Amino acid sequence: MPTVTNFGKNLRFRPRVVARPRDRAEVIAIVRGARKLRAVGAAHSWSPAIVTDDTLVSLDRMRRPLALDRDRMQVTVEGGMRLHEVNAYLARHGLALTSLGSIDQQAVAGIIATGTHGSGARFRCISAQVARLELVDGRGQVVTLARGDADFAGAVVGLGALGVTTAVTFDVVPAFQLHDVTTRASFADALAGLDAALAASDHYKLWWLPPSDDVIVYDRRRTDRPADDSRLRRFVKDRVVSVAMYRALVAAGRASGRRWIPGINRFLTREASRPLDRVVPSAVGFLTPVPPVHREGEWAFPAADAARLLPAYRALLLGGGHTYNFIQELRWSAADDLWLSPGYQRDTIWLSLYNIDPGGWPAQLERMDDFARAHGGRPHWGKEARFDRAYLRQQYARLDDFAALADRYDPERKLRNPWLDAILEG
Ligand SMILES: Cc1cc2nc3c(=O)[nH]c(=O)nc-3n(C[C@H](O)[C@H](O)[C@H](O)COP(=O)(O)OP(=O)(O)OC[C@H]3O[C@@H](n4cnc5c(N)ncnc54)[C@H](O)[C@@H]3O)c2cc1C
Repeated sequence: MPTVTNFGKNLRFRPRVVARPRDRAEVIAIVRGARKLRAVGAAHSWSPAIVTDDTLVSLDRMRRPLALDRDRMQVTVEGGMRLHEVNAYLARHGLALTSLGSIDQQAVAGIIATGTHGSGARFRCISAQVARLELVDGRGQVVTLARGDADFAGAVVGLGALGVTTAVTFDVVPAFQLHDVTTRASFADALAGLDAALAASDHYKLWWLPPSDDVIVYDRRRTDRPADDSRLRRFVKDRVVSVAMYRALVAAGRASGRRWIPGINRFLTREASRPLDRVVPSAVGFLTPVPPVHREGEWAFPAADAARLLPAYRALLLGGGHTYNFIQELRWSAADDLWLSPGYQRDTIWLSLYNIDPGGWPAQLERMDDFARAHGGRPHWGKEARFDRAYLRQQYARLDDFAALADRYDPERKLRNPWLDAILEG
């Protein structure tokens, strides 16, 4: 039995078999023949969504582009295609996805199943860029759903509960650049200027390295201006400063028994926010270098509550005697209509709990989860969180409809695992 682990190394399990179909017909045969199964993309989720002791279906061999429709401005790709492969394919055709998250290593089917998002108060999560999807449902039948179809809004952020997604059609836009300006502000000033910053910037986010008083401010605006950043500067900033120096400092912080972490975080805040002003292709501007192995929780809160939430969030992470040797990310996204999207009918501010140091993680996560549930948070489905179904039902008005949809597409409940059972059954 193969051992499977995820990016965060917090999951380790042994499915009976890892199936790697090459086409839709093979997916159908696998689903029909399996007693139980889960689909896996790039295993970049921390939540136990992919865990199974039976059949794990990987679409690693199904990562081809299928169609490019310039009239509709849509691209269709196989479900296993990695986001960086989609980005490269689109760039070759002068096109792009309108908004991305922080990395591009995930599979498209995995991204949309969890509601993966970037940052930008007027931009919805990546799942909301899906126009059509094709899946092999739990009965082994091929279902194609397009935006506007009755089940579509329930199926996109599907948690892998309805079937194996074999193809995804995304809306695309003409290739564009981002004017990428990085600065630093005190937490208090960033809060005071938040509404104006969100109105002016297309893709605004903050990074905070507790207990620093300052935050790193990323202001990215869409532009047609040509890129002006050199590869060398990108190499120095994205590889040397962001990766090598950061990893060395993390190791130093650990070696000090965490004593140096506060000082290191203040230093990193100054270093990472050295004023940067550049124009880069969108995929470069949205993405950050792949970070070291770490743990992540992240919750979606009402954006309208930001002024009240942010001081409380800051106090939460400064309290409890914990140290964090990783950035905390504060992001925004616009409301959508996908039933299980954390942004369902609500403009969102995302607040994270990230840490490399595994020492105090369970206690840190518990504090964050308590905070989130007290403030109407909705968990990121791909990250670590504790919740119960009663709470989820308060937050997701369509949760029962989604459970009924899952039962219709997967009447024998082949796709269920304990994580899904907790969400759908409680
Ligand atoms: C370094 C790092 C950075 C990240 N940055 C961001 C970010 O900026 N924004 C954000 O929102 N999230 C982010 N994430 C989280 C990540 O985007 C999500 O967890 C995403 O779902 C992972 O995609 P994956 O392909 O690895 O899917 P997996 O983790 O393998 O699976 C996720 C879910 O998708 C389902 N699934 C996968 N493939 C299929 C398929 N073919 N058919 C049906 N269901 C399927 C699985 O069953 C599971 O339920 C990040 C994660 C990492 C490790």
